[in-house]
Amino acid sequence: MPRSLELVVTAVATRLIAVDAATATGVSQQVLAELVTYFGVDSSFLRHHDHTIHATRLIAEWPPRPAGAQPDPPALIHFADADPVYALAENLQEPVVLRPETGGHAGTTVACVPLPSGEVTTGMLGFVMAGDRQWSSEELHALAAIATLFAQVQARVYAEDRLRFLAEHDDLTGLHNRRALMAHLDARLQPDQPGPVSALFFDLDRLKAINDYLGHSAGDRFIQVLAERLAQAAGPSMIARLGGDEFLVVPASPTDVDAAEELAERLQHALSKKVPIDGEMVTRTVSIGVAVGVPGRDSTSDLLRHADQAVLTAKNSGGNQVILYSDAISLESEFRNDIELHLQNVIETGALFLRYLPEVDMRTGKVLATEALVRWQHPTRGLLAPDSFIGVAESINLAGELGRWVMRTACGEFARWRANGVGLDAVLRVNVSPVQLVADGFAESVATIVAEFGLPPGSVCLEITESIVVQDIEVTRVTLAKLHDAGVQVAIDDFGTGYSVLSLLKSLPVDALKIDKSFVRDLGADPGDLAIVRAIIALAEAFDLQLVAEGVETGTAAATLLRHGCHRAQGFLLSRPIPSDQMEALLRRGTIPVDFAEP
Ligand code: C2E
Ligand code: CA
Ligand code: CA
Repeated sequence: MPRSLELVVTAVATRLIAVDAATATGVSQQVLAELVTYFGVDSSFLRHHDHTIHATRLIAEWPPRPAGAQPDPPALIHFADADPVYALAENLQEPVVLRPETGGHAGTTVACVPLPSGEVTTGMLGFVMAGDRQWSSEELHALAAIATLFAQVQARVYAEDRLRFLAEHDDLTGLHNRRALMAHLDARLQPDQPGPVSALFFDLDRLKAINDYLGHSAGDRFIQVLAERLAQAAGPSMIARLGGDEFLVVPASPTDVDAAEELAERLQHALSKKVPIDGEMVTRTVSIGVAVGVPGRDSTSDLLRHADQAVLTAKNSGGNQVILYSDAISLESEFRNDIELHLQNVIETGALFLRYLPEVDMRTGKVLATEALVRWQHPTRGLLAPDSFIGVAESINLAGELGRWVMRTACGEFARWRANGVGLDAVLRVNVSPVQLVADGFAESVATIVAEFGLPPGSVCLEITESIVVQDIEVTRVTLAKLHDAGVQVAIDDFGTGYSVLSLLKSLPVDALKIDKSFVRDLGADPGDLAIVRAIIALAEAFDLQLVAEGVETGTAAATLLRHGCHRAQGFLLSRPIPSDQMEALLRRGTIPVDFAEP
């Protein structure tokens, strides 16, 4: 290819590499403008195909049409009734040039260049010139290279859009999602709004059993039926599905505690009717938490937290009941007081210890990393998982101390294995709580511990959740930069559960993403999950991040991940969390057996 053409391709690549969903159209138009000038043609356009409706859609063109003018040809063209130029573009594989005498459009020469994505033609670039124009094969080569760049942008933007779409809608039931609910409550709780505003939090008891015994499509169908029943029985209300089997109902008119409780009981009754699924009559009881907020006094998060707390208490006390927030607090505070009381000196008494969860390359079984998970042997409540006490620790300012204990203990054990010649190329992953990350001197204290145990750069990785990153972005940015300088890696944990961090990914020094286990667990059974996972894989590739899947429980999930290019994973299929000495032994062996035949 002549030098000048190479330069054009390079210039286009440089422009397109930085594009995201927000800038794609604008940058595409600029690139088209440059290409029009360079090739000396009259106009050019970029179209994307939508094969589901057999049509092609205008994305950008140069020169632009005056605002308000009807585009000609139209923005959306159906291949079936398109003129030859577009009909040909549907599955075009190689560039073609249509000259006036060979079918060009109204005495013009049109160069059509397909956007390739594997076997599929995802769109086209077109270059139009009045009269006859020769296109050399070098020029067409350059255009093909440019079309490939456009196709890559298209794939990246699609992944980003898709992830955002999935994050904003509930595909299964068509109900509102959390985002929409929050916006609704924010508006309802403004000081000048009529109140009180009540929130009814529904949580199905043991839905998992339906999924397990009747399969996931039965579970989905069941949820759809319940959603329809809620919508019918609730009267004028905002109804949202918050996740798996959680729904929230907010009556449209002001509702006090008594009225809310009455509504909850009526809905409980409506939902308890049997649902026919695959010839079986299925029913599930439901737990309901009720909270009431006053506009101007309570915030959306207060109201949701109260309703959530009430439903948790309802579930914990056996399910199938309606609990009001005020009753919930007294039961709950009993538990918290007890945890608080014992947590104060949990570190001195040696009641904390660590388990390790291996992370494996599923192609080879090689153990690549290990995640430290804290446990608490509680004097009366038995072995406690972190979810039951980290929150309490945070609320009584113990998170820092607890976090330092975890960091120090994990690094100490890791250093001991390494001193025995084991796990020298493995990575130690440590979870960090949001409160810790934004505390003064956090990065310095991590760096000190890592240095004290002589752990080499890159061997320790902190896991933080998306929500922290977004909450306090400036402090986070500074802290992450310091950690990066100290050779400590950073992974975003539970990725996919909130999409807001997407736009920040590019600008933060992050090394890895961990796909949240809620998307992984049912892979192979739930096409919605696969769509999300594929979008995350595409993002990780676009941003050049390491990718780890969490919560791999089945061979199907493992095989599905492998097929789509995600190799690193952890989960109960590979290993449960294990004690330190077993982790050392596993690192010594180096691999676990892997063979994920799909059933
Ligand atoms: P995480 O960071 O997402 O950790 C993974 C959790 O998923 C662990 O639960 C692990 O036992 C569980 N898990 C792993 N594989 C599977 C699987 O295949 N299926 C299912 N259902 N679960 C799986 P664990 O140990 O109860 O920890 C819960 C959460 O508590 C962690 O979630 C993490 O956010 C937090 N945590 C754990 N240790 C610490 C710590 O030292 N400090 C802080 N701040 N948080 C911690
Ligand atoms: Ca984690
Ligand atoms: Ca996680």
